[in-house]
Amino acid sequence: MNDSVNGRVYDTVVVGGGPAGATAACDLARAGRVVLLLDRAGRIKPCGGAIPPRLIKDFAIPDHLLVARIRSARMVSPAPRQVDMPIDGGFVGMVDRGPFDEWLRARAEESGATRITGDYTRTTTESADLLRIHFTVRGADGGAATDCSVLTRSLIGADGAASAVAKEHVPGAGRMRQVAAYHEIIRTPTTVEGGAFDGSRCDVWYQGEISPDFYGWVFPHGETTSIGVGSAQRGYSLRQGVTRLRTRAGLGEATTLRREGAPIPMKPLRRWDDGRAVVVIGDAAGVVAPASGEGIYYAMASGRFGAEAVDGFLATGDVRQLAEVRRRFMAEHGRVFWVLGMMQYFWYSSDSRRERFVKMCADPDVQRLTWQAYMHKKLVRADPLAHIRIFLKDTAHLLGLGRA
Ligand SMILES: Cc1cc2nc3c(=O)[nH]c(=O)nc-3n(C[C@H](O)[C@H](O)[C@H](O)COP(=O)(O)OP(=O)(O)OC[C@H]3O[C@@H](n4cnc5c(N)ncnc54)[C@H](O)[C@@H]3O)c2cc1C
Repeated sequence: MNDSVNGRVYDTVVVGGGPAGATAACDLARAGRVVLLLDRAGRIKPCGGAIPPRLIKDFAIPDHLLVARIRSARMVSPAPRQVDMPIDGGFVGMVDRGPFDEWLRARAEESGATRITGDYTRTTTESADLLRIHFTVRGADGGAATDCSVLTRSLIGADGAASAVAKEHVPGAGRMRQVAAYHEIIRTPTTVEGGAFDGSRCDVWYQGEISPDFYGWVFPHGETTSIGVGSAQRGYSLRQGVTRLRTRAGLGEATTLRREGAPIPMKPLRRWDDGRAVVVIGDAAGVVAPASGEGIYYAMASGRFGAEAVDGFLATGDVRQLAEVRRRFMAEHGRVFWVLGMMQYFWYSSDSRRERFVKMCADPDVQRLTWQAYMHKKLVRADPLAHIRIFLKDTAHLLGLGRA
């Protein structure tokens, strides 16, 4: 393989075939662009796999990819107090990232993108309007890597939280704020002591001993279950956090199938483009919601904005189009990210605050607005009285006036 697979100069090379890159590649191919999707093989993305209905609808995810449907969330406080938050007339979908990501990449290919399994190494400038993308490819036997390169008019970096494309092209990318996350995938047991496990309920644990600054989760995936914790605190043992969580959730004895971890970005980068021909999207741009760590929907949404912006740039040559990705994304989701950032900063900082936070989750107004915001990715404006009620209760809790 060399310059141009089949003699082509690509309109775009997308590096990374996770939710962000596969979405951008698919949309651009459908728009008639000549697209190369370059993805490193061999690793399933560590992920809880919870996705909202808005994602299922906007990105036409078929039913067969949903391995479980979640009907409620249980919040567990340090006390421990349990507060159940049922979903009124809907569900949260659960996906296994192995088949989910592969399905997204296959859809991009069916839409016309060329797929190559390889490892991005660097970009060089070929001419005023052409980049050369360098990568390595291994043979089917996993033998020695071969150096390859292709020419392209633009580059999309969707290569995750440790993005090589972002570090090379976007200022500040090496200093992204992150939470370290680790989970164990277990075989879902048929019975759990005390009946504490429910395959249609996600449990979220807010206890300092499980995570000093984030949370722990038990997310059912049908035959398997993801049990994990996140923390940005140096020296905190995520493995011990998961062991503790498994014991407390009655899942200590279940068979462990995989143990894996990865960083979760906590703040969008200030720039997502290089002002010439490169943009970054998804985790590479830092677009994961603070407090919840939700990133799949935002990766795909930024992938869609990314595809539209690059399509505009290719059509006009106007580099200002590239900055539109971040502007449009933040216009739609920036306020939610800000609110969630404040929430994480305040409510996740001590056990007494976690206790009050979980208590607040028992409030029907809080439950309704939380689910509406999560499911539909919109801050609800329709019910001003509910917002006023929540504001007053929230303020009372902040000031410690609500009894724990
Ligand atoms: C433990 C954990 C649990 C999580 N749980 C949830 C959850 O329940 N719900 C949710 O919405 N989000 C969750 N997230 C966040 C979510 O997983 C990410 O935000 C999402 O995967 C981001 O998608 P992406 O496409 O930007 O990046 P990724 O999914 O990381 O995809 C990046 C792709 O780039 C490829 N790549 C990397 N480097 C190269 C290279 N040099 N060359 C070629 N290819 C390369 C990788 O192989 C990969 O396919 C969780 C994250 C973690 C770590």
